Amino acid sequence: MADELLYDAGDFGPWLRSKLDSSMPDAVVACGDCSACCSTFDAIPIGRDEHATLAAIPSEFLQRVEDQATGKVLLLTSETHVCPMLHDGACSIYNVRPKACRIFDCRTMAAADLVDKEGRHAAMGERVDEWVFSYETDEDRARQLAVLDAVEFIYRHPTAFRSRGFSYEPSWTATQAIRIHELFLGNREKNQETEILLISESVAIMRRWADIEHRVD
Ligand code: SF4
Ligand code: SF4
Repeated sequence: MADELLYDAGDFGPWLRSKLDSSMPDAVVACGDCSACCSTFDAIPIGRDEHATLAAIPSEFLQRVEDQATGKVLLLTSETHVCPMLHDGACSIYNVRPKACRIFDCRTMAAADLVDKEGRHAAMGERVDEWVFSYETDEDRARQLAVLDAVEFIYRHPTAFRSRGFSYEPSWTATQAIRIHELFLGNREKNQETEILLISESVAIMRRWADIEHRVD
């Protein structure tokens, strides 16, 4: 790693707290000339009330989802997962880009050590691997270990989270692991009873965040 270019991801503690802010503020990411995440996803969800965003995107790239629970519109990407609004390596609708793009932060995957350099995730994985957090306190380090524990827990119980949208997508897993990480602080017995309790507490937290995501759209 010594010869590789690394990027300062900032202080882990304040960064983690910003990810647990239920107002879901826009992420402040020093992307530089990187646009890797704009060529990664199948589709980008847009809230039906994101009027300026929807008005800026040609209708042929939009697909309405007839699911009243989510009420989303999808911005469809190409067969190679490139967003049609990405022009010459930059977002052509940056000032009105979807909320999903504004809150996206690939450091989430760095925090969860979910570095996927395969297939369509390759370019983003390269960037994720280059972030380096700093840790001001022992508690910050303990919290990152709890995030890693939470990742392992989610993968250990995939069926428990299926109804919450479980996928092996690194960004989904990393985001959820951060949200439930406080359950993994401190010592606990590893037995069937505590596992079942953790599943139920994790699902409750994920459900709360799903409601928040729906509300801020
Ligand atoms: S992959 Fe990360 S660094 Fe690159 S544009 Fe997306 S958020 Fe920014
Ligand atoms: S809308 Fe803009 S920021 Fe969002 S994926 Fe497309 S190009 Fe990237």
